[in-house]
Amino acid sequence: MLDNLINPMHRKSFIEFGRRLAELRATDELFFLPKKAGIKNVLFLAGTHGDEPVGIELMKALGDGKAHDWLVANEKAVALNRRFVDCDLNRSAPGVLGSDKYEERRAAEILLKAKSYNGVVDVHNHTLETRTFIILTKPSFADLLLAAQFDINDIVVWPASEKRATGPLTEFADPAVEIEANRGDAGRLLVCLKKFPVQYSAPITRNNLIGKNIYWVYGKQLKKAEGWRDFEIARVGDEAFYPLMCGQYPGIGCYKMIRLSLE
Ligand SMILES: [Zn+2]
Repeated sequence: MLDNLINPMHRKSFIEFGRRLAELRATDELFFLPKKAGIKNVLFLAGTHGDEPVGIELMKALGDGKAHDWLVANEKAVALNRRFVDCDLNRSAPGVLGSDKYEERRAAEILLKAKSYNGVVDVHNHTLETRTFIILTKPSFADLLLAAQFDINDIVVWPASEKRATGPLTEFADPAVEIEANRGDAGRLLVCLKKFPVQYSAPITRNNLIGKNIYWVYGKQLKKAEGWRDFEIARVGDEAFYPLMCGQYPGIGCYKMIRLSLE
């Protein structure tokens, strides 16, 4: 059973997430993203990791900011073209306003600002050949609905592998997703993001899931075998899984995913 692969601390939310997903796929009902803060829909974050320029390029290419609100999340690290200055911003949420660590302060400031928005979209890029995908850092149905509004077909639910007090920015806002962009995909993403600000309010139906694949990260593989490719099924012994981020992080062969939907 798939459930047995899932970290016991996530098993309940895995089943609940699967149930909501199945419901969405089976009904003709319309779903809407929450309108909790009123007028402003989405705060885009770019440069959360200072060495990932694609988000900032996209935000600038989207225009003068009238159609979309955005900010450079890690200004100091972006200026230095480094992942972070004191600690990884995307592991520092919810943050501490009075901290002596820059990223801890910054995480708290950003999340405070995010409270005036209905949702958050944090744009990252990887340095692999892997296609652009969306990460949900928590198994939230609202996050899934937000992800479903983008023309990005691979959605990866990637909850924390252990209990810890701090984590990604998007874990502390709801709905919130990360876009993990392929560096060469900026042109297509620009079209996709241009359409998005109006799509926040548009109804979501099961049709939004057509062509989309939804995965759940359940573990990692330290040693990677030749020929493995992200999002293409691989095997170790009798375990079959979909690899993710093959070779992106030192010491990690890849992350392992199961697929929740078959389109
Ligand atoms: Zn990143």
